[in-house]
Amino acid sequence: MNQYRVLLYYKYVTIENPEEFTAQQKELCDSLGLKGRILIASEGINGTVSGTVEQTGHYMEAMKNDPRFEDMVYKIDEANEHAFPKMKVRHRPELVTLRLEDDVNPNETTGEYLDPKEFYKRLQDEDTVVLDARNDYEYDLGHFRGAIKPDIENFRDLPQWVRDNKEILDGKKIITYCTGGIRCEKFSGWLVKEGFEDVGQLHGGIVTYGKDPEVKGDLWDGQLYVFDERIGVPVNQKEHVVVGKDYFSGEPCERYVNCANPFCNKKILCSEENEHKYLRSCSHECRTHERNRYIIEHELTEEEVTERIEKIKETEKA
Ligand SMILES: [Zn+2]
Repeated sequence: MNQYRVLLYYKYVTIENPEEFTAQQKELCDSLGLKGRILIASEGINGTVSGTVEQTGHYMEAMKNDPRFEDMVYKIDEANEHAFPKMKVRHRPELVTLRLEDDVNPNETTGEYLDPKEFYKRLQDEDTVVLDARNDYEYDLGHFRGAIKPDIENFRDLPQWVRDNKEILDGKKIITYCTGGIRCEKFSGWLVKEGFEDVGQLHGGIVTYGKDPEVKGDLWDGQLYVFDERIGVPVNQKEHVVVGKDYFSGEPCERYVNCANPFCNKKILCSEENEHKYLRSCSHECRTHERNRYIIEHELTEEEVTERIEKIKETEKA
């Protein structure tokens, strides 16, 4: 089949009138029938959209005709259907939320670009620290072998994490990576500004790394977390090692669900069996929350909920 495509792209380039451009992008995407999410800021564009080969082709063509985006790089995945439910184009103050007191322009300051082959080499260098520039739930589903996981829930907490963990990084060569490369452009630039001398970034991100015909995604374990309905996609073409662990049992697992408490929504890896056993909830508080979606969806009575919670308590005692 494969008549659909998912595009992933970004470019840091000055956009003079971001509000107006946001409206134009929405109109363009809607007229083409694309679905996805595009962020626009005065510092550039960050997008991921899905559509047929024809629709996505028209989009890339239209962007090419705009001198600001003529050299924009697209990572293209083949797909069988749309990867998003809707088309959203949003104007934001930043493309990636770092909220730095002293903002970084990657066109002026950024880490050294490493192509997949060079990054692969550095991964095996003993003096190099590999720093994952993504969120914890992305790391948990898959990451480069030996990479450091900064325990952060939001990208904007990364600079503080670095300052708190300087001893791990001082005097080392640092390489960073993220999904498509956009977060590393800023983050590696920030590291350079912060005084770290040898900073490299995976150019084009994990997505590009997984497609390299020579490297073939080697030294990547697990799946790549993606921000669309696919959730996880493969990277390593040579071997697949599962690193994800079931939140409840610790068993190997690559299935993400959101906590059923709408105010929590935490991403938890769990088997279908454990989803039902634990009412798709990360904690007792979430399980007993009055707005618990699992309980509503399954029309569980109070008695049934109590019965399941008793069972969980027995498991936890054992
Ligand atoms: Zn929860």
